[in-house]
Amino acid sequence: MAHATVDRRRFLQGAAGTAALAVVAGRAPVIWAGAPDLPADPFTLGVGSGDPLPDGFVLWTRLAPAPLEGGGMPDAEVPVTWEVATDEGFSDIVAEGTVAAAPAFAHSVHVDVRGLEPDRWYAYRFSAGGFDSPVGQARTAPAGCDGTRMRFAFASCQNYTSGYYTAHAGLAAEDVDLVVFLGDYIYEGGGSGVRTHPGGEATTLTAYRNRYALYRTDPDLRASHAARPWVVVWDDHEVENNYAGAFDENGGDPAEFLVRRAGAYRAWWEHQAVRMPPPAGPDLRIFRRIEWGGLATFHALDGRQYRSDQVTDEDLVPPSPAMADPARTMLGDEQERWLVDGMEASRATWNVLANQVVFASMPLAGLVNPDQWDGYAAQRQRLIERFASGAVANPVLVTGDIHASGVAEIKADWADPASATVATELVGTSISSSFPPDLVDLAEQVIGGIPWVRYVNARQRGYVVCDVTPERMEAAYRVVSTVTEPEATMSTATTYAIEAGVPGACRTGGSGPTGPGGTGGSGTADPARVTPAFTG
Ligand code: FE
Ligand code: CA
Repeated sequence: MAHATVDRRRFLQGAAGTAALAVVAGRAPVIWAGAPDLPADPFTLGVGSGDPLPDGFVLWTRLAPAPLEGGGMPDAEVPVTWEVATDEGFSDIVAEGTVAAAPAFAHSVHVDVRGLEPDRWYAYRFSAGGFDSPVGQARTAPAGCDGTRMRFAFASCQNYTSGYYTAHAGLAAEDVDLVVFLGDYIYEGGGSGVRTHPGGEATTLTAYRNRYALYRTDPDLRASHAARPWVVVWDDHEVENNYAGAFDENGGDPAEFLVRRAGAYRAWWEHQAVRMPPPAGPDLRIFRRIEWGGLATFHALDGRQYRSDQVTDEDLVPPSPAMADPARTMLGDEQERWLVDGMEASRATWNVLANQVVFASMPLAGLVNPDQWDGYAAQRQRLIERFASGAVANPVLVTGDIHASGVAEIKADWADPASATVATELVGTSISSSFPPDLVDLAEQVIGGIPWVRYVNARQRGYVVCDVTPERMEAAYRVVSTVTEPEATMSTATTYAIEAGVPGACRTGGSGPTGPGGTGGSGTADPARVTPAFTG
């Protein structure tokens, strides 16, 4: 066994170059002597990287020789070594170290690697108990105001029972720098469709762990994580359908629901390459920013944890004064301030909001969905006013949740379709989750009739690839031919381009946009003109 013992000197060298996340708070991760060999390959869930910085990224794996039965690990800390190299052959290793995988966190590993070069790709791998992991690809972001082009994909909603993950096989092959995942990574329910969720509805830490492990055993999802860095946020199904803050779907006891939420959040943390300390209870701050040089700032949002309860549990209702109550919130006060301050301070050309539910007003024959931003209209309008002020350069919302593709203009005043377009929303379809087939035609007809909706497609699954330059953002809607068969073909349903209305402060030498048109830029006062680049 190659790694049954660990060289302590090498561990300390590795630790000096990193800021390993506190896997067990206040305890040095050292249980080396007598570390057990493992009975079988522990890398069944693959590897991943995420939350890139100009000098590093987070590397993730979880040891689970029996992934669907709680992991199958001994009840002991196990040393895991990691290596980062400039080449896939690992002849030029630039960072390495050893961390402890602890039973308290399901033997997951999060390594916050630092000290790397900006704006370049690296290869990484782990080893533990005599086994080597697959090799993954990670990337650092450009520094300062650098960067003239990047490509990111965004995706959401991958119900395992609804279909196969051929879209992830496609995503793994895309030439993208980053994957932004907008939530519904798992679904909590039981049941069967194309595939089966064993064990009924997940409500406990153990059940959520097994659910993540089930998803992560899918080879296409593993390939997608290994190939590219991800930035992950959650929506509702990581805990329970349509939950809001401490309120579950069915009006249960909030204290009981928070116990469930604690298990769900912990299992989420254990299975994602995220830069944040582990949760110690029902709360976990996941909203955060990823800076991509002078090109883009990604504001990764949490629209579930701090929410006011929906005004009603009905799916579609007429808009009511209660929905516009200024005290109601999707993001919570602290996150709203953090978002507004961060958008206004960003010096990048594009402000990308990694958002969960549809932001644009979506009146469907006079009815709205109270789980969407329509149900939180006052907070939405406060954000729209910041967009309209010109203090935010080129805001683009990327959104999931509805299992359909769309493009919408965000209007200064929803009551006046001729009012200014102040931002753009790109809605991505699901990786696998279904849109009710009998409602596809009606939905496309009704949604397509909304004046600010530029595109709607409810019939195909896939993801969106955005090609970003200082001048424009081009969004290609990539779709699979089917999710009900393991084999499928990929194609591009349509492509839309958003012209940058203002240059970011990095481009003008300013400190941030200061008013309509930006600081001394030559852009127009309309910060997000949507033009269909190609249609097909
Ligand atoms: Fe979903
Ligand atoms: Ca959802």
